[in-house]
Amino acid sequence: MPFDFAARKLDLFAELRREGIRDERVLTAIEQVPRELFVPPTFQGRAYENIPLPIGRAQTISQPLIVALMTEMLQLEERHKVLEIGTGSGYQAAVLAKLCRRVFTIERHRALLKEAEQRFAALRLHNITSRYGDGSKGWQEQTPFDRIIVTAAAPDLPLRLAEQLREGGIMVVPVGKERRDQSLLRVHRTADGHRIEDLGGVRFVPLLPGLPRDGLPKTRR
Ligand code: SAH
Repeated sequence: MPFDFAARKLDLFAELRREGIRDERVLTAIEQVPRELFVPPTFQGRAYENIPLPIGRAQTISQPLIVALMTEMLQLEERHKVLEIGTGSGYQAAVLAKLCRRVFTIERHRALLKEAEQRFAALRLHNITSRYGDGSKGWQEQTPFDRIIVTAAAPDLPLRLAEQLREGGIMVVPVGKERRDQSLLRVHRTADGHRIEDLGGVRFVPLLPGLPRDGLPKTRR
């Protein structure tokens, strides 16, 4: 084995615990997903460092601590149906898939989505359904969701997504127009609207409107 992933994994776990991750189910899920398979080969040796890494198309796989924190904030239960916006490498979706019944995930870069889908298949994560598209519209056909997680920063609170939550549902989403000024918000859908908690400052790539040029039909490429 070119890298001693097991030893590095132990160090990362110690760090996640030190940073306050308490939910053993979340830690176990993270332990079960091989992060080295979600990063480009050149970065595999750094897969268990607590840092975001580039995955192509100017996007990043989130830092393990952020994945752990957002997953913990979702308060997942086994029977839950979850929507993720921003599949990216597929890592966060894979962690979610270990903790709930079904995961639906949307990505606006075809190439990233394809790679993520290959990883889901290789890891036999059959409870993930993925789709190419603009995730800011959500996934109407599959509503309502118990949980929604947005892994790119929305300029404003995405109420359109919150509407796809079932009553009592939770959405975790980074919100902020500037990269230096984003907050992680937890939105609880209540009988008469929404209750919002601010979980603190974060830095995410932006949630972008529409689709990139590689999204054009083949005949126009
Ligand atoms: N969850 C990912 C992190 C990906 S970074 C992981 O675990 O690796 C955020 C991702 O959101 C990027 O891949 C980006 O292309 C995607 N994204 C940004 N805006 C989007 C939108 N409107 N719809 C769907 N995906 C979007």
